[in-house]
Amino acid sequence: MYIILLGPPGAGKGTQAGGLAKDLGLAHVSTGDLFRGNVNGGTALGKLAKSYMDRGLLVPDDVTIQMVRDRLLESGVERGAVLDGFPRTLQQARSFDRALVGDGQRISCVINLQVQTPELVRRLSSRWICRECQTPYKAVEDMHLERCTKCGGVLYQRDDDRPETVAKRLDVYFTMTQPLIAYFESQGKLVAVDGQQSIEQVRRDLKYAIRRCVPDFGVGVADAGPRA
Ligand code: AMP
Repeated sequence: MYIILLGPPGAGKGTQAGGLAKDLGLAHVSTGDLFRGNVNGGTALGKLAKSYMDRGLLVPDDVTIQMVRDRLLESGVERGAVLDGFPRTLQQARSFDRALVGDGQRISCVINLQVQTPELVRRLSSRWICRECQTPYKAVEDMHLERCTKCGGVLYQRDDDRPETVAKRLDVYFTMTQPLIAYFESQGKLVAVDGQQSIEQVRRDLKYAIRRCVPDFGVGVADAGPRA
C-alpha cells in the first residue's frame, strides 16, 4: 500500500507522515529527510542535493527517482509506505506509477493537504526543527526552548526556510508540483484534506480519507472520522 502526501511546503506533510505511517504499519519515506541525511553525512549525493536545496530548487528527477527506488528496496518497506515530498514532478509521478505497475502494485491513495499561501509563508518563515526527530517548533511561541521536548535534540532553522528561499520553494511548488493534483485526480485517487486545522484534527481527517480510499484497510484507523 502506497499513500502519497501531496501539498505545498509548510502544509504539514512532515508533521503528519511519520505518525500516520506508524499507525498504519507502513514505512515513512520523506525525500527531504533522505536528502538532508545525505547532506549531513557529506555524501556525493548530499553535496549535489544541497546545491539545489539551498536555492529552493528541486533536485533533478533522475537523482531523486533513483534515491527513492533504492529506499523502497530496503527492509521495512514490504507492506508499503507513506510518501512525503515525493513525487513532486510529473516525471517523478509517471516513473513511480510505471515502477509500481511493473511490480503488480499501485498507489492506493493521494492526499492533497490544502493550506492557503499566506499561512504557508507564515509557517515556514517561523519554523524551527529538531535536528534528531524533525519535530517542528514555532520560533515565537517556543522561543524559550533550546532543545526538543520529545527527544532532547538541538533545534535549528533549516537553510531553506529563510524568507528568500521560501518564496522560491513556493514558486517551484506552483509550477512543478501543483500539476500533480490534476494528474492524480484524473486517476480517481485524489482526496483533499484541510491542512489549516489543528494537528490532531488533520490527523483524524487523514485517517478518514485513507479509509475512504482503502475501505478494507482497518488497522489503526479506528478513531478516524469527520469533524463533529
Ligand atoms: P522538503 O523537506 O520536502 O521540503 O524538501 C526539501 C528540499 O529537498 C526541497 O526543496 C528540494 O530541494 C529537495 N526535494 C525533496 N523532495 C524532492 C523531490 N521529490 N524532488 C526533487 N527535490 C526534492
